Amino acid sequence: MTDLTEKFRSLPVVSDLIALRETLWFNDKVTTADRGLLHTGLTRKDAEDAEARLRRFAPLLAAAFPETAGSGGIIESDMVPVPAMQARLEQSAPLPGRLWLKKDSHLPISGSIKARGGIYEVLAHAEKLALEAGLITPDDDYSLLLSPAHRQFFSQHKIAAGSTGNLGLSIGIMSARLGFHVTVHMSADARQWKKEMLRGHGADVIEYEQDYGVAVEQGRKAAECDPACFFIDDENSRTLFLGYAVAGLRLPAQLEEKGITVDASHPLFVYLPCGVGGGPGGVAFGLKLAFGDNVHCFFAEPTHSPCMLLGMSTGLHDRIAVQDIGIDNQTAADGLAVGRASGFVGRAMEQLIDGCYTISDRTLYDLLVMLDETEGIQLEPSALAGMSGPRRVAASPDYLAQRGITPQQLQQATHLVWATGGGMVPAAEMQHYLAKARR
Ligand SMILES: *Cc1c(COP(=O)(O)O)cnc(C)c1O
Repeated sequence: MTDLTEKFRSLPVVSDLIALRETLWFNDKVTTADRGLLHTGLTRKDAEDAEARLRRFAPLLAAAFPETAGSGGIIESDMVPVPAMQARLEQSAPLPGRLWLKKDSHLPISGSIKARGGIYEVLAHAEKLALEAGLITPDDDYSLLLSPAHRQFFSQHKIAAGSTGNLGLSIGIMSARLGFHVTVHMSADARQWKKEMLRGHGADVIEYEQDYGVAVEQGRKAAECDPACFFIDDENSRTLFLGYAVAGLRLPAQLEEKGITVDASHPLFVYLPCGVGGGPGGVAFGLKLAFGDNVHCFFAEPTHSPCMLLGMSTGLHDRIAVQDIGIDNQTAADGLAVGRASGFVGRAMEQLIDGCYTISDRTLYDLLVMLDETEGIQLEPSALAGMSGPRRVAASPDYLAQRGITPQQLQQATHLVWATGGGMVPAAEMQHYLAKARR
């Protein structure tokens, strides 16, 4: 343990984390959206470029993945009201506002939020290679990249990534479909079915007995030795981040379609499960671009893997890991078992998010069963992390007053719980989750 870490162990919030209590932390560095966005070092144009790139690739995606043809090759998820779930939650405490679920869990191609960032970064890399080689121009129909000749071109290039499962699925499936030679370095907690599905798509899967940090590190090292290999760096990638940000840019149109108003008297609260931070960070960045000060973003993490809360509350970001304060990083929440947060994301989001909280695996399972019983919606445990956010916000009058949100405005609020995974979990596996949760 470093001296630096020693100094922070006595902070009340850090002692709560060490005790594995469900902890709620409000960010006192949060400022106006304008100022906070400047601090990220990324711009609206960066996010809009990502959105435009995904539009250029839409014809290719529609051709390569028939399940995206209905949306014209745009990978986007539905959002649905969950009134029965809200009623169930209200049996224990009032929950002013309306509860909605953003179903990234059911995104096409890879069934998780990673179908945004992971697929986007593979496409951005493929476009760069193809443009440099003079194989396409930005005005072409990109579906021509699916031809055997282009496949042959991409097969001379390699892509690698480290993953707890879902990022690997997204990167692996997309890369293999284009013809890349793709290797995914998987941490010990990755599910067997995810590894098998990836191998089925033609990706190489290397398994580690250690956690995510080690899998990423080994993947990075292997890629460094090979100039033909492009490593997708989940811990530092601006490209991944911007792929996720597109979700935020698209949300205003979806809310309008659902008849939901967001303005100063109708605030939007968004609860995002957080692993290394790129997914929730990118989405929150896009949301701030879209809704400014009218959106309030919270990150949710397992009590056993609170890396972002720890990094942000101490200001140490990636210079501290949960293991440094004696936490084991063992959780049933796939995708969230990360011990050290992305330093880039923590710093970029320092002034934009309202707070972070932790949730125990027990609570994740309770919510998993509740959502299944009340709404018939099945998610993987990690995707429920956002679900305890609304009641925690509602129970925090000081925070609400400090952010200038009146009880009446809270009554008119929309709570959007970002469901990040579960759509492709095999039926038997889902039954196993439900059975385990009911025990
Ligand atoms: C990856 C993942 C997240 C969080 O994304 P990060 O970029 O790691 O913070 C949340 N939920 C699920 C299901 C995931 O797979």
